[in-house]
Amino acid sequence: MFQCFQPNLYVDSVLDLTPECLQKYEIKSLLLDVDCTLKKYRSQKITPEILSWIETMKENKIGLCLLSNGRCERIRCFAEQVQLPFVAPALKPLPFGCHTAIKTMNFNKKSTAIVGDQVFSDLLAGKFAGLFTILVTPLQPEEEPWFARIKRPLEQIVLRRKGLKKNLL
Ligand SMILES: [Mg+2]
Repeated sequence: MFQCFQPNLYVDSVLDLTPECLQKYEIKSLLLDVDCTLKKYRSQKITPEILSWIETMKENKIGLCLLSNGRCERIRCFAEQVQLPFVAPALKPLPFGCHTAIKTMNFNKKSTAIVGDQVFSDLLAGKFAGLFTILVTPLQPEEEPWFARIKRPLEQIVLRRKGLKKNLL
């Protein structure tokens, strides 16, 4: 049963995902969660490290699309700052947002990964859509609203039950 909660990769941060690492897994495009993955929940600020990471991905021709459950206007504001296309609200864990992003962006499903911090939205959406899944440690989850925070203890149980260790080539 817990198999569906097993990500293909589990890393500390998107910053661990280098072009070389993605190449090893034959990943050419990423569907990126926003809150607690690329930025803290309550902040609209983007750190220079994340900006530089996005630039590196673009330079290496890694396709990027934001995929967030956040409201359209809020995510649009972030998307404009980082100059990336977006799908929001994506209604994860349903897979339809993944399908929309892949189709709109003309990504190849086989070489697309979903990257996010939530087991019960990002990871499951990726599994339902049949994508490579990458789980990251959330950025300051204590800032999240109650409906996101209540899932965290359950996530910890699932991850501990799996004995999941961070892994990266
Ligand atoms: Mg998130």
